[in-house]
Amino acid sequence: MPLDYNSLLIAIGFSSAGLALTFFTSWLVAKTERFLMTWSVGLALIVVATLIYAAFLQDFAPILGATGFSVLLMGLVVVMAAGRQFRTGRLPVKTMALSAALSIAPMAVPMLTGYTGIAFIALNLGATAILFATAWDYWLGRAEARTPILLLAVLYALTGVSFAACAVVLVYERQWIIHEAPVNWVENLNLAVSLASTAGIGALSLALNQSRLARGHKLDAETDALTGLFNRRALFGKVPVDLAAPVAAIVFDVDQFKRVNDVHGHQAGDEVLRVFGELLAANTRRGDIAARLGGEEFALILPETSLDEALMIAERVRTRISRHGFASPAGALTCTVSAGVAGCDVGRTGRDELLRAADAALYSAKRAGRNRVVNAAADTGHDVGRVA
Ligand code: GH3
Ligand code: MG
Ligand code: MG
Repeated sequence: MPLDYNSLLIAIGFSSAGLALTFFTSWLVAKTERFLMTWSVGLALIVVATLIYAAFLQDFAPILGATGFSVLLMGLVVVMAAGRQFRTGRLPVKTMALSAALSIAPMAVPMLTGYTGIAFIALNLGATAILFATAWDYWLGRAEARTPILLLAVLYALTGVSFAACAVVLVYERQWIIHEAPVNWVENLNLAVSLASTAGIGALSLALNQSRLARGHKLDAETDALTGLFNRRALFGKVPVDLAAPVAAIVFDVDQFKRVNDVHGHQAGDEVLRVFGELLAANTRRGDIAARLGGEEFALILPETSLDEALMIAERVRTRISRHGFASPAGALTCTVSAGVAGCDVGRTGRDELLRAADAALYSAKRAGRNRVVNAAADTGHDVGRVA
């Protein structure tokens, strides 16, 4: 079946309208995802541009041509802005205004002064520039999800190339003034590529948004809201049941925390937990897991770490928090923590066994007077001193 220009144009109109509607309804259910609305507006502009262009093809009135092309360029600019908004969270208003002005003026002036061919060339070059800028923007954000984003960049760039090809043909044929829309295989190819890209870009953009939402939900479900550390569930989900030595676990518990809340208020208590969370995060390396187990209890799982190293880390954290001053309406406040450390330097060990041993050592530290680190291996269950 031969693909003629008009049917391709109608197909682009319909597919853009369908996508605009899809993005709009997606935005209705997730209004914080503003880029969906921006996308929808951009596509709606493209639909309007297609309708005006279809009318323009009837009698080739320059004013209709200038309007239709301006709306098309604005639509492409808004689509570009939606991509930027997806990546950075902000709508680039200045860039939008500048890109629209820079692309519309070189097209509108020749169109309204009778140089219709030059107007077509300018439109094609303007569209190419905007599409390439969009592709570049996606390329910059490729770290988020490499494959779909690179595919998006390729589709935008390919569409840009197909517009550029139209301009090249017009220049090559020296068509400075034309009285009807250029008809050649490159024009048809441009529409076919645009049609395929609209569908591909739409599907990929929606999939990308879905995967971002899913990642966000997963992260929320794994993160403790107050400290930003992993929560208990994440710790058990991330640390394998069977661990290879050397590996160590430290369990911390804030001392007399109930009293902190009682004397200084819950907010001050929260601040202590937040700062302690920061301290733990600052004392972990890549591959370590720092988690808030619940309440004022925290755990560190330290792969590739000997028992001695873990004891040093626990002691460092203990000293640092004891030196940290907090302010509260009820006056200055300092806090101490107790810690239990368990390690396995050779062979293998069970995660739960390691945590249980660290917890038992923590219990000993509490009974021995708090503000101390107890080594599970040396823990007799009786009084123990501080680790030097
Ligand atoms: P110990 O030295 O033996 O650990 O005594 P403690 O007072 O720290 O222990 P206890 O388990 O009696 O009290 C823990 C307190 O932690 C009780 C609870 O109200 C408080 N708590 C738990 N979660 C939070 C929280 O998210 N924010 C605040 N501010 N307090 C919390
Ligand atoms: Mg406590
Ligand atoms: Mg506790």
